Order: sequence, then C-alpha cells, then structure tokens
Amino acid sequence: MQRRHFLRTALLVPAAGALRAQEAASRPRVLAVSAHPADFCSRAAGTLIKHVRAGSAVKVVWLTHGETDESQLLYKKRPGISIEEVRRIREQEAFAAVHVVGAEGRMFGFGDNPLRMPPERMQMLAQEIAAFKPNIILTHWKEELSYPTHWLTSRSVIEAAQMAGGSWDIRFFEPTIGTATRYGFVPDHYVDITEVFDQKMEALKKLETQPHLLEYYSTLNRMRGLESGRRYAEAFVRWAPRPPVVDLLAR
Ligand SMILES: [Zn+2]
Repeated sequence: MQRRHFLRTALLVPAAGALRAQEAASRPRVLAVSAHPADFCSRAAGTLIKHVRAGSAVKVVWLTHGETDESQLLYKKRPGISIEEVRRIREQEAFAAVHVVGAEGRMFGFGDNPLRMPPERMQMLAQEIAAFKPNIILTHWKEELSYPTHWLTSRSVIEAAQMAGGSWDIRFFEPTIGTATRYGFVPDHYVDITEVFDQKMEALKKLETQPHLLEYYSTLNRMRGLESGRRYAEAFVRWAPRPPVVDLLAR
C-alpha cells in the first residue's frame, strides 16, 4: 500500500473498537431500576422514551410490586382484595406503562413493606446488570431516607453495579415529590422532555392505581422545565465517585 493511501485509510476509517465506543456514547444502553411499578415512569419515562427513539436498548426492572405502600387505592376500592391479586394488577400496570415507553421490563417481585435485600437478591440484581451491560443506570436518589424502600433500592444498585464490575455511570432521579429540598436533591443535569411529554403522560396513565401521579409529576416536569429553560424537563444527579480532573478550566 502506498504511504499516502495508507494514511488516508488510517485517518478516514476508525478502528472497530473506536466505532463501538462512538456507538456506545451516542446510543448508550440504559437500565432503570425502580423500587415500585410507577417510580421509573413518573421520574424518568421522558428520558427513557428519548433513548428508545434514538435507538438505544432500554430496560426497566422493578424490585417490588408496590403491593403495600403504593397500592392504597386498590384496597380502598376493593375491600378484602388478596395481596396476590394486588400484585397481579400492579404487574400488569407496570408492563403496560413500560410498553408505552417502548422498553423491555422485568419484575423481580421481591416484596414490599419494606423491601429487603439479602445476599441472594443482591446477586440477582448484580447478574441482571452484568447480563444487560448498561452504560447508564438510572435509579432512586441515594439520600431518600424518608422512604426506606427507595433508599435501599438506590444503595443496592450502587453495590450491585460494583459486584457486576460494569458501568459506574449511575444517575439518580427525583425523590418522592415534595422531598427534594429536605433530602438535598439538587439536579446537576436536565433532560428536555417537551417533545415526548405526551407519550410520558400516556405511560403514566397506565398506572391506574396511582392516578394522582399525573398531576404531581406533570407539575414537577414543568418546574424542572422552568429551571432549565425548557417547557418540560426531567432532572438528575450524576453519581461521581471520582471527581473530574481537568488541565484547565473548561471554556
Ligand atoms: Zn416508589
């Protein structure tokens, strides 16, 4: 090969590894770990929909059916309903919501009130992370102490990600609405969800046991939109176990 031709080839055709890295950066595999059926949807469905539209592999896993704390309406409407029936209904709602998002779903069904994460469940979560190989993991705010199941989900994800030996790019979504100020959730980045907001609301409507979420989280998305100069936005905090180091201050 002539030197000139070789140089052109070398410059124009990135190595396969570099291509894979570029692809991962533009279409990251995204895993959302949700304590209860609706959490992923109210906090992050807009972001997940955008990733699905961009061609990313997106998966949601639920640790519990939310059969106690987040299913009050079912017990009120149907006195005497069995817990098995509540779980069945909540699972159906969860998969209906994730279907609207366009993602894959998996229900662990570890049991709620509160969630417990013994070593064998930690192993299952770690195996899920190792198998899916996410570039980005979304989960609950690590300081949501007022809601032990959310808080334990967050801790478990951090630990399971370490066990899986994979991605450390964990982004925390909103704590329960109304608690962000008390628990120090200060967003460090936002996703503009204006163009997918209607689809997010359609997904949220599938969680029929929690109809109040529509008003709560559309209000929150509007507020986060105002903070970020958009119509609607979702807010996140990026977990950074290692601080960024730069040569000079960025422009
Ligand atoms: Zn929840």
